[in-house]
Amino acid sequence: MREFLDRAQAAVSDDGRLAPGGMASWEVFPFEREGLRVRPLVDYAVPEPDRRKAPEDCKTCTALAREDLVLHRGRRLGVIRPAGCNLVFVANIVSLAHEVLDDLDDDGHVELGRLVGRTYSAMKALDGVGNVHVNKWENGAGHLSVTLLARPEGVLQLRGSNLAAWADMLPPTPADELAARAVRVRDALS
Ligand SMILES: [Zn+2]
Repeated sequence: MREFLDRAQAAVSDDGRLAPGGMASWEVFPFEREGLRVRPLVDYAVPEPDRRKAPEDCKTCTALAREDLVLHRGRRLGVIRPAGCNLVFVANIVSLAHEVLDDLDDDGHVELGRLVGRTYSAMKALDGVGNVHVNKWENGAGHLSVTLLARPEGVLQLRGSNLAAWADMLPPTPADELAARAVRVRDALS
């Protein structure tokens, strides 16, 4: 696989950087193309560092211990929400144990699929939600986490794969609004 970065390096400009791609011209891209600069490519890290943090350093494990943040507990998986967010609502489908997606067996895969569908529906049914996007990122802790992000209805500039980048810049959603929506999502998942 050494050829992957060789090919990428062969495509860089005189300044050693790739040019911004077509996404930078999308109307939903948060930044204007002019003045945008791509970070220089860095070399391989093989073997990759272990992405599993210890459970005591894991935000997902911490959230699972807070009942106000737990929206559902199933057999092997559960649904939690972050303590705060900048969107209409955010939920995470997580394993109840400190493990990654690679650790799930087929029953776990079935439970995950069912919870993705049910959590999506519960969030989509909230007032003021235009769409819900589903992502798997693990939150940097090595704990299975499928993140569902609710986009505000009618705010089409936030739609699609740049929603998380926009969310990073938006102001926090009031805690009481999030708590009220959490009650509805918890009821829908019960
Ligand atoms: Zn954990």
